[in-house]
Amino acid sequence: MARYRGPVCKLCRRDGMKLYLKGDRCFSEKCAVERRNYPPGEHGQGRTKFSEYGSQLREKQKVKRMYGILENQFHLYFNRADRIKGITGENLLVLLERRLDNMVYRFGFATSRSEARQLVLHRHFLVNGKKVNIPSYLIKVGDTITLNQSSRKVERIVEALEISFRRGIPQWLEFDKTSVTGTVKAMPARKDLTMPISENLIVELYSK
Ligand code: SF4
Repeated sequence: MARYRGPVCKLCRRDGMKLYLKGDRCFSEKCAVERRNYPPGEHGQGRTKFSEYGSQLREKQKVKRMYGILENQFHLYFNRADRIKGITGENLLVLLERRLDNMVYRFGFATSRSEARQLVLHRHFLVNGKKVNIPSYLIKVGDTITLNQSSRKVERIVEALEISFRRGIPQWLEFDKTSVTGTVKAMPARKDLTMPISENLIVELYSK
């Protein structure tokens, strides 16, 4: 299945919430959800209710879009989360958070996950001192992510970091400005993930 290349703001409007797919614009008044908070299309303003299955499907689509994951890979994450001890829905969210592209975004090297994915593919980062260019690489507690010496003047990364320094990063992460290195202090607890996600709906969908 091909990666979605259409207008991403439509995806947020369809899901009725900000998915933060467009970097800094998402925090501005230009955000399409702020301006037109109803689904796109001719009948967008008429549609309000979903069936039980529809709600479960919407929730899955929303999380997939948020993290930029395709269907097959998402299902693999779910299967893996199901095998881990604990609550499957929470395990799923933590697995998604552990992706290298997400961590790059969380540390503020990029203003969106899609930009982070591109930066990882272009080999801008070292994980524990070694170059890694796999966006789905899973980060563990204690791992470090360092910006390559040769990438420290890349304008878009410098700008993204400035924005992130102003906004701050999650408390389960630590960032050292001198070495331009992020360290994962802990995995996020469910309460740390503040996006409005009902992961139980995804579990219900895949358990059918
Ligand atoms: Fe979504 Fe960002 Fe577009 Fe707003 S600006 S609709 S949050 S992608």
